[in-house]
Amino acid sequence: VAQILDGRQVAAAYKTKLAAEAAALKQTGKACKLAVVLVDGDAASRVYANSLMKLAGSLGVGGEIIELAAQVTQEELLAAIDRCNHDETITGILPMMPLPKHLDADMVATRIDPAKDVDALHPLSAGLVQVGKSRWAPCTPRAVMAILDYYHIDIAGRHVVIIGRSNIVGKPLVHLLLGKNATVTICHSKTENLTEVVKQGDIVIAAVGKPRLIGRQMIKHGAVVIDVGINEEAGNLVGDVDFDQVATIAAAITPVPGGVGVVSNVMVMEAVLEKKN
Ligand code: NAP
Repeated sequence: VAQILDGRQVAAAYKTKLAAEAAALKQTGKACKLAVVLVDGDAASRVYANSLMKLAGSLGVGGEIIELAAQVTQEELLAAIDRCNHDETITGILPMMPLPKHLDADMVATRIDPAKDVDALHPLSAGLVQVGKSRWAPCTPRAVMAILDYYHIDIAGRHVVIIGRSNIVGKPLVHLLLGKNATVTICHSKTENLTEVVKQGDIVIAAVGKPRLIGRQMIKHGAVVIDVGINEEAGNLVGDVDFDQVATIAAAITPVPGGVGVVSNVMVMEAVLEKKN
C-alpha cells in the first residue's frame, strides 16, 4: 500500500518558518499584506479567499479581500488592481479566478505589478519561470515541488508525466521539473493513448479537473502520484486520481483533500512574504 504524502505535514513545516519570518518582518516595521481581488459570483472563490485570509491571520501576515460586485466593469476591475499596485501596504495581489464571462482575465493578469504578482499570472512572471527563475512560479506548481522535496523523492533523470497543460499548473511545472533534471512529458485532452503514456511515468502529476480520471490501470507499479485536482462530487472533494485504486499500486500518493491544496495556500503566503517591501 502506498505511502501517503501528507500535505498537512508539509504545510505545517512551512507555517512555522513563515510565522517566524512574519514576526521578524513586523519588528522592522515593514509591510506585508495579501490583497485578494474577489468578483462576486463564484462560491468556490469565496471559500478560497476566506481560507487564505484565515491562514494569513494565523501566520501574522496581513490580508484583505477587495470585494467587487458581479456586474463590475472591466475598467473598474483594472482600477481596483491599479489601487493595489500603488498601495504600499499591499505586497501581494491575487485575483480570484474564474472571473465572470464579461471580464478579461488576460487583461487583469497583465495589469498586476509583477513585483506583487504572487501567483505568477503576469506574462513577465511566466517568462521568468521559463528561463529558470523558479521562485517566481505560481503557487500550485511550487506546492507540488515542495511535497516532492519534503519527502525526498528523487526527480533527477526520472520520467515525470503531467496530465494537464494549463498556464497555472501544468506548463510552469514542466520548467520547475526540468530545472531539477527530470525528463518531462505533458499530456492533455488531445493526447492519444493516454493510458500508455501515463503508465511510463515514474512520477505522475494529475492536474485535469476530472474526478478519478486516473485509474489503477494507468499507473506503473511503484510510481509516485501527485493529485492536483480538486473536484466537488456530491458535496465531497475528490481528486483527479482514483485514490483507493491507485494507492494499491503506487509507491506514494497525495490525498485530496489534505494534499497539494493545503501546501498551495501556504505557498501563497511564502510569496507574499518574499515580495515584502
Ligand atoms: P484547466 O485550466 O481546466 O486545465 C485542465 C487541463 O486538463 C487541460 O490542459 C486539458 O486539456 C486537460 N484535460 C481535460 N480533460 C482531459 C482528459 N480527459 N484527458 C487528458 N487531459 C485532459 O485546469 P487547471 O486550472 O489546471 O486545474 C486542474 C485541476 O487542478 C482542477 O481540478 C483544479 O480545481 C485543480 N487545481 C488545484 C489547485 C490546488 O491548489 N491544489 C490549484 C489550481 C487548480 P486541453 O488543454 O487539451 O483542454
